[in-house]
Amino acid sequence: MKHINIALDGPSGSGKSTVAKELSKKLNILYLDTGAMYRAAACKAISLGVDTLDEEKVSSFIGDIDLDIRYIDGTQHTFLDGKDVSARIREPEVSMAASNISSLKCVRMKMVSMQREIAKSMSCILDGRDIGSFVLPDAKYKFYITAAPEVRTARRKAELESRGFQVDFHELLKEIEQRDYNDKHRDFAPLVQAKDAILIDTSDMSVHEVLEKILSYIDR
Ligand code: C5P
Repeated sequence: MKHINIALDGPSGSGKSTVAKELSKKLNILYLDTGAMYRAAACKAISLGVDTLDEEKVSSFIGDIDLDIRYIDGTQHTFLDGKDVSARIREPEVSMAASNISSLKCVRMKMVSMQREIAKSMSCILDGRDIGSFVLPDAKYKFYITAAPEVRTARRKAELESRGFQVDFHELLKEIEQRDYNDKHRDFAPLVQAKDAILIDTSDMSVHEVLEKILSYIDR
């Protein structure tokens, strides 16, 4: 297969990462979860005791952040300062911190340049918020995956519970709506459906159905 990039954008819990993982297996290309990178940046700020919205303090460490994405047995692992933080970045407190820190231009510029390097070097599927609209405007395939907020909350709750975290549905819904708002209203590279992206509402669709729909466009 020749070099291709596939952009999967959309709000939290829309099912992007589940679909991206399946798609990467099916097409035998890399899957880059770009949210993990913003989560790692948030972890760094937390460990330094830096407010994730303090642009001056964040800009003092973000340029030299020791962040590395590695693949072990085909699965993405996120390393921060040489340590595997793949589990840590999924902790609930990191979600809101990642949403905040990702609004800063200095953070986005750093992450976007790493993402573009990876996408240039190999075929991959990238999931995120601004892949089709900003990171890779020339990506061959672009999809915007969404679902009703309640459906996304139920999915996120199930995922967190499967990892041992108990969360209140209404609290989580509020957090998801706040993260949606932050993503859509930030000044720099907000969450938007790229003009040439295909919209898929997964509210009433199974993972298999979403996958088939995406593949039907790629096969054409
Ligand atoms: O996708 P995930 O929920 O893991 O992403 C964590 C946070 O990182 C999101 O709430 C979003 O604000 C931010 N993000 C982003 N741009 C991306 C990927 C994630 O702003 N490309």
